[in-house]
Amino acid sequence: MRQKIVAGNWKMNKTLDEAKALTSEVLQLVNAEVKGKAIVVLGVPFPYLVSLKDQLGSSSIKLSAQNSSQHDWGAYTGEVSALMLKSVGIPYVILGHSERRQYFGEDGKLLATKVDKALAAQLTPIFCCGEPLEIREAGTHEALVTKQVEEALFHLSAEALQKTVIAYEPVWAIGTGKTASSQQAQDMHAVIRKHIASKYGNDVASTISILYGGSVKADNAKELFSCPDVDGGLVGGASLKAREFVDIVKAIG
Ligand code: PEP
Repeated sequence: MRQKIVAGNWKMNKTLDEAKALTSEVLQLVNAEVKGKAIVVLGVPFPYLVSLKDQLGSSSIKLSAQNSSQHDWGAYTGEVSALMLKSVGIPYVILGHSERRQYFGEDGKLLATKVDKALAAQLTPIFCCGEPLEIREAGTHEALVTKQVEEALFHLSAEALQKTVIAYEPVWAIGTGKTASSQQAQDMHAVIRKHIASKYGNDVASTISILYGGSVKADNAKELFSCPDVDGGLVGGASLKAREFVDIVKAIG
C-alpha cells in the first residue's frame, strides 16, 4: 500500500546508550509534534534492535534492520536472517543499500533472493537503488536504475511487490551533502513508477511507496517530499540528530 514513510538509516553508528538516548529523544519529539501523517522507521544496528523495540513499546515508531541474509538458517557465521528479525518482532529491513553493493559485492541476483526471504518472513523490504556519479554523468542513470529494480523485484507477484518499499538513492548524493534537485528526484521516481507500470499495470505501480534518499535535511525535505512521486525519505546522516530527523518527518505534507 502506498504510504508516506520517513526512515532513518543509522548505519554503523552509536553505542547502545547513545542509541537509547537518540531513540528516546526521537520518540518524545514525534509524540509531541508529529500528527500521524508519515510512518516513522528507525534503521538501527542489529545489536540494538531488541532493546530499542522494548523501549519503543506500543509507540507508532517502527524499527528496521539494515540488512538480512539470503539464507534462512545454518552455517553462515556472522549472518542474520529475515526469520530471526521476524522472531524478534522487527517489521522492516533495508536491502541493497549502495554501501552493501559497493563494499560487500551485493548484486541484483543476490538481492532478489534477499527480497524473497524478507517477504517470506513477512518483513517489509526497503529496497534501495541508485546510480553512481559516472553513470549520471554518462546519462545512462535511468537505464541502470530500472535494471536494478527489474533484477531484484520483477520476479515478484504483484501482491508481493505491493508489500515492498523502494528507495531511490543516487550514490553521488549519499553522505556527500549534495542532494538531487527535486526535479531530478521526481524524474527518476516517475521513471521507476512507469517501469513498474509497464510490467504490473498502473493500478499496482500507483500503490508502491518510493522514497528518496541522499543528503535529505530539514531544509530540503519539504521540496523533495512535495514531488508527486516522492513518498518520503530514507535519511542517513540527518537521522542521527533527533531534532533534524523529526523536522524531516514533519516536512511530509
Ligand atoms: C543513506 O545512507 O541511505 C543516506 C541517504 O545517507 P545520507 O542521508 O547521509 O546521504
